[in-house]
Amino acid sequence: MTTLHTPMRPRWICAGCAQDWPCPTRRGQLTAEYDRAQVCLSLVMASYFVEASEDLCDVPAGELYLRFLGWLRSARIGGCLRHHDPPQRLRPLPPSRDRSAY
Ligand SMILES: [Zn+2]
Repeated sequence: MTTLHTPMRPRWICAGCAQDWPCPTRRGQLTAEYDRAQVCLSLVMASYFVEASEDLCDVPAGELYLRFLGWLRSARIGGCLRHHDPPQRLRPLPPSRDRSAY
């Protein structure tokens, strides 16, 4: 049996463990799912943040930010923010017979 750690709205409580969503388990799952795609994960979590801000209008924005987005910086995810692939070398243009166009 798989426990789904999905948010129960409008209180954004985890359906799997009854903690504030995203719970530590879900954060771990998201980190694994979006390995090497931290920007995508950030966009997804930003979307959840906006939705939660509408539902949890009694919770300070800073608290919601830390809950939905603040943990991303400490998540150990590969991706463009940690790993920079060396730039690909540009192939030289083939020799042009007609340079008068330039
Ligand atoms: Zn959970």
